[in-house]
Amino acid sequence: MTRTAIVTGAARGIGAGVAKRLAADGMSVAVLDLDETACKRVADEIEAAGGRAIAVGADVADEEQVAGAVERVVSDLGAPTVLVNNAGIIRDNLLFKMSVEDWDSVMSVHLRGSFLLTRAVESHMREAAWGRIVNLSSTSALGNRGQANYAAAKAGVQGFTKTLALELGRYGVTANAIAPGFIETEMTAATAERVGVPFEDFKKGAAAQIPVARTGKPEDIAHAVSFFASEGAGFVSGQVLYVAGGPKA
Ligand code: NAP
Repeated sequence: MTRTAIVTGAARGIGAGVAKRLAADGMSVAVLDLDETACKRVADEIEAAGGRAIAVGADVADEEQVAGAVERVVSDLGAPTVLVNNAGIIRDNLLFKMSVEDWDSVMSVHLRGSFLLTRAVESHMREAAWGRIVNLSSTSALGNRGQANYAAAKAGVQGFTKTLALELGRYGVTANAIAPGFIETEMTAATAERVGVPFEDFKKGAAAQIPVARTGKPEDIAHAVSFFASEGAGFVSGQVLYVAGGPKA
């Protein structure tokens, strides 16, 4: 049976890696991101590799756009029963310099976005009596200097995930969170730029603090998502998996 997956923030970085992996696993994939043209590049790559994918432009924090996006997925690919809430932004600053806008926009994409997408697809999962929800948290959920907004949002994602697991388990739906450590993407490249360190040096510095002595790649996260989304993972729910090259709390 071909499952339909929605991956948000999938135009690049971790989301693109996850979309390609789920397609390689045999799923039809909706590549959802703000910019539909950027999504199309990833969807085309998946199709060129023999998979099935569509590009869907939508802002995860906009209720109407989310409803429209899910409708499109249902009609073009079939009812979505796998959802990966991956879209994310950072607006880092020390608390005394953090604006209300920086706080709100981070909450909006990570928390409101995950809520809106999940609410829009859960009826399809209940109808199918099967579903897999994977939410992207972060090691920053444990606290990280300069990220009061992001850390709070990523800790919130963990509470959200555990509640989904409790509410939806009886319908054959699992919900799990992945908390990545340092992954090489435009997000970490932007952090390096903000602190004024060349990305290569920034990665080397990070790798020196990581037990497996390297930084992560989108494929490392995609592998963990693939497991949670698999048919065999139906007894694994409400978990937070730190994928960080070493132990975290
Ligand atoms: P990224 O390279 O910045 O990619 C994030 C994607 O999300 C971008 O394509 C972005 O689109 C999209 N996006 C942002 N706001 C959106 C919205 N409102 N609606 C739809 N799409 C939106 O980030 P990444 O490093 O791959 O991170 C992916 C996820 O993993 C995020 O949730 C992040 O917090 C989490 N994470 C990352 C790391 C890491 O080390 N990289 C570590 C822990 C957790 P635009 O480019 O158009 O803004």
